[in-house]
Amino acid sequence: MSEPLLKYSPRETALSESHLTKREFLKICGASFCLLSAAQIFGFPKTSQAQLAKKGLIKTKLSPFFTTLSGGEIQCDLCPKRCRVSKGKRGACRVRENRDGKYYSLVYGNPCAVHPDPIEKKPFFHVLPATTSFSLATVGCNFQCKFCQNWEISQASPEDVYSYDVSPEMIVKMAKEVGAHSIAYTYVEPTIFYEYMIDICHLVKKIGLLNVCHSNGFINPEPLKNLCKVMDAANIDLKGFTEAFYRDLCSGELAPVLETLKTLKKEKVHLEITNLVIPTQNDDLSGLKEMCLWVKKELGADTPIHFSRFYPLYKLRSLPPTPVSTLEKARNTALSSGLEYVYIGNIPGHEGEHTFCPKCKKLLIQRIGYMVGENHLKGGKCNYCGKPIPGIWM
Ligand code: SF4
Repeated sequence: MSEPLLKYSPRETALSESHLTKREFLKICGASFCLLSAAQIFGFPKTSQAQLAKKGLIKTKLSPFFTTLSGGEIQCDLCPKRCRVSKGKRGACRVRENRDGKYYSLVYGNPCAVHPDPIEKKPFFHVLPATTSFSLATVGCNFQCKFCQNWEISQASPEDVYSYDVSPEMIVKMAKEVGAHSIAYTYVEPTIFYEYMIDICHLVKKIGLLNVCHSNGFINPEPLKNLCKVMDAANIDLKGFTEAFYRDLCSGELAPVLETLKTLKKEKVHLEITNLVIPTQNDDLSGLKEMCLWVKKELGADTPIHFSRFYPLYKLRSLPPTPVSTLEKARNTALSSGLEYVYIGNIPGHEGEHTFCPKCKKLLIQRIGYMVGENHLKGGKCNYCGKPIPGIWM
């Protein structure tokens, strides 16, 4: 799961099981919602050619990540699928094509989604709270998750979806214009638009904003290492903790994702984890405990983890939304396993949205949905007891 592109009706559904009444929720968030709405309807500059979205291929770029095989065939080296692609054909992510024995990205500079979002929506809870993250995606994905929230773009080809022609320079300009503190590569798996992402990342570093991504972590070591040099923070989906889950529900593999998590930690990229808890599929508490113990041992007890609520979508419409009690049990399991920053996502008003100091237990950052209330951090430390809190803070 990546974050939802649209704020679809789960907000309504979530409120029905939230710990606030709708009236209370709107009262608390009223002013913030107005600001948020203004930001969210921002599109491209009116005079820009970028307004002219179109279907089909717009720009292509030669990929540096392929090996030439015999007979004009190539092997893509970007992600562990290592697709073997014959002339004129595309890889599994649908956005890379073999043209006369060379491999091309078909989505360079062609986002289909560009939104200024609250960084809490990514979700990042330990990165510059209450700031805007300028978020973008192209079509395509290297997974085929049956529960994907953005399947209309992740499972599409460039010919299926309207996309824009937006250079990396223009993305950075637009991010500055909306006062964003970061640029987020998100909504689909950003690895598949790697060439575009890395060019934007380099420009972003020059102007002092942050690069952040939400990814499935399914990327090969070499491109990942390059990316770590310019990526400030990553939220990685740990979708389940068995190979069977990854194979049957995502058309992916678990082992490379675990390697990515360890590399990000080693390379000192700020790391958060999201686990979408799906009824009957990955909500077994012993499996969740095993996952939490692995996170603690390999990544550290201070790695923030988000247990997010599933809504029936795409190919898993027959399952119910995750009960709040299941998310609470997952959170308790993680806390009792020794993880220090454990969050519940998609239940506005739940105390599992807040950050608490693991030492003195006081409330540090209060959240309601994507809104931030009280913030008792000072210089990255708990303002009550002085404990350093991991993250990137103002
Ligand atoms: S990035 Fe796309 S083409 Fe390359 S190996 Fe992965 S799925 Fe295949």
